[in-house]
Amino acid sequence: MSKIYDVAIVGGGPAGLSAGLYASRAKMSAIIIEKGKWGGQASTTEELENYPGSVEHPTGPKVTERMKLQAEAFGTECLKDEVIGFDFLEKIKVVKLAKGEIKAKTVIFAAGAQPMLLGAPGEIELRGKGVSYCATCDADFFTELEVVAIGGGDAAVEESIYLTKFAEKVTIVHRRDEFRAAKSIVEKAMQNDKIQVIWNTVVEEIYGDGIVEGIKMKNVQTGEVTDFKTDGVFVFVGTKPITETIKGHVELDAKGYIIADEEMRTSVEGVFAAGDVRVKSLRQVVTACADGAIAAVNAEKYIEKNFEHITLPDAK
Ligand code: NAP
Repeated sequence: MSKIYDVAIVGGGPAGLSAGLYASRAKMSAIIIEKGKWGGQASTTEELENYPGSVEHPTGPKVTERMKLQAEAFGTECLKDEVIGFDFLEKIKVVKLAKGEIKAKTVIFAAGAQPMLLGAPGEIELRGKGVSYCATCDADFFTELEVVAIGGGDAAVEESIYLTKFAEKVTIVHRRDEFRAAKSIVEKAMQNDKIQVIWNTVVEEIYGDGIVEGIKMKNVQTGEVTDFKTDGVFVFVGTKPITETIKGHVELDAKGYIIADEEMRTSVEGVFAAGDVRVKSLRQVVTACADGAIAAVNAEKYIEKNFEHITLPDAK
């Protein structure tokens, strides 16, 4: 008979890794399945200044790598595979993978969120050819060049500051006349000589012959359309939840986020949600970690109530 885990965790970002740590420390057998980059979106953030205790410029990759090592040290298994679906009909839940399946008493879904597309003509065609969604991944391609960053949230402003380490000039194009990003980040950006902001403006087209050459943008107050030459376009217009595989199995809100209570319980018993993927007011590494811990503790309570015993993790 194949192994039945106490907890199968979908997603290896801060929420999933914290869930693994707490599950393993509670002596439950836990496995995390991640199809992409361990560390999730946080691993694409250069500076993690607002994660408590992260002083002296810790990078997202460094902190999340330590989170993974810590979970593994307590017995969490980390598997690289793609989750393609679920079967929650029986008491033992099934996580369907591209290369097999995993059975578990509980599931913690922590698949996170991904960047939203701007939806402008040229964006898809020029993706990877000057259009990017990740400064830490692609900034060095724009060394001594000029780039545009679109958006006004934490990601747009913070990543623009990072981009100035490489690019000659960063122009933030924002559709309103104020940022929604945290004031401390905005202040830092405003003091950076390499950053300029074009307010009340939307990007209507990204163009270029095989590589980004410029954008067409419109001032939303005057209606004036202007042409702006640039070597790269970084799109930071928000994120959307990665819930395609779990849609139809648990309750989601209109935007596709998982509805879970304060104990991280979803509409299905024994299935929990944690991190950016659930409906919540503050999406940060610190709140993702908290969600993961709460989900694991409640998975343990659920198992104690509904099963005879927990399965000890494999000795390391
Ligand atoms: P966000 O906070 O949702 O901000 C998206 C920005 O894009 C907003 O300024 C929005 O404008 C703009 N926008 C949306 N659709 C647009 C469109 N079609 N055209 C032009 N502009 C558009 O997204 P985010 O910055 O990616 O952050 C996502 C979450 O991660 C947030 O909860 C954020 O706090 C968190 N995060 C935190 C940090 C950090 O704390 N260090 C870093 C990165 C992300 P409006 O303002 O007009 O709506």
